[in-house]
Amino acid sequence: MKTNYHTHTTWCDGKDAPETVVMAAIDKGFDAIGFSSHAMLPEDDTPWVLTPEKAPRYAAEIRALAKKYEDRIRVLCGVEADYVPGGATPDRGAYAAVAPDYIIGSVHFVAAPDGMRVCVDMSPESLADGIRDHFGGSAEAYVRAYFAQVREMLLTCDFDIAGHLDLVRKFNVRHPYFDESAPWYLAELDRTADAVAASGKIAEVNTGAISRGWLDDAYPSAAFRERLRARGVMFILSADAHAADAIDCAFDRFGDCETFVSAPVRK
Ligand SMILES: [Zn+2]
Ligand SMILES: [Zn+2]
Repeated sequence: MKTNYHTHTTWCDGKDAPETVVMAAIDKGFDAIGFSSHAMLPEDDTPWVLTPEKAPRYAAEIRALAKKYEDRIRVLCGVEADYVPGGATPDRGAYAAVAPDYIIGSVHFVAAPDGMRVCVDMSPESLADGIRDHFGGSAEAYVRAYFAQVREMLLTCDFDIAGHLDLVRKFNVRHPYFDESAPWYLAELDRTADAVAASGKIAEVNTGAISRGWLDDAYPSAAFRERLRARGVMFILSADAHAADAIDCAFDRFGDCETFVSAPVRK
């Protein structure tokens, strides 16, 4: 089965319209393509966020494409929903207007002790500023807060796929700010792998940082995947594509080495 369920379009911060992506997926011989628009942040003025007002129109467009192309490919309607404590929840109940086929739960903003939020993946510069201004200059405190928030999401929200579980690595090769072999970091991976296993959720192997040139590896890292595999966690391969030509980026590097599921909804 050739599939990708993590796809962004012009409904959020992607480059191509959904129909362009569906046609690319057909050309590449995909069995299924799923859309996962970024959804509902606390600040609804972010221009590319799927607001409650836009969400039903998004779902209607994807469902219409599913019908139009039903003889050639399976098209699913999902969302990539943020977990921001006190602000947004990747929870089925919060997305009733979309009735998504699946929900990817992701942490892109880490809540700081002073009540501010630090964006994990905007730019190395903004991350450095956020750690300096809101975590007392301690990258370790920031990374630990990120994983604590991921675990809280896993154990309290009703969703299907755990998105890019170690997104904190995004800038750590080109702009190193913490040691991925440090005992405290590996302990965070162990604790988070325990939470994924306890939640029963699917972990994605996400090649998005490869297509955008930040990393030469997927999220989660090989060390993290090993911990997840040891706990019996199931994986799903995803591109986190922001353009039609990226929907299978580097899939050939990861397809054979994990225990993959081909459907995005956990049992
Ligand atoms: Zn994401
Ligand atoms: Zn994404």
